[in-house]
Amino acid sequence: MCKYVNSCSFFQEFASRESFIWKAMIKSYCDDGGGCVRRRSYEVEGSKDLPAKVLPSGAHASKAFLALP
Ligand code: SF4
Repeated sequence: MCKYVNSCSFFQEFASRESFIWKAMIKSYCDDGGGCVRRRSYEVEGSKDLPAKVLPSGAHASKAFLALP
């Protein structure tokens, strides 16, 4: 599990979503680790206030994406 789960706004906001896409993203990045742009940012710049809508891929979540349960 990523060591930033308690301070990461993305995780705080979306980890409890129900849809497969959210769950797969959390598992891929936050559970298994590796490749998360947010994590690299935290490690390089400290716990800066990244908006929750910045995905682990570094892209901004679209409205359609955000509407998923
Ligand atoms: S989104 Fe990235 S920084 Fe945030 S908890 Fe998941 S792996 Fe860690």
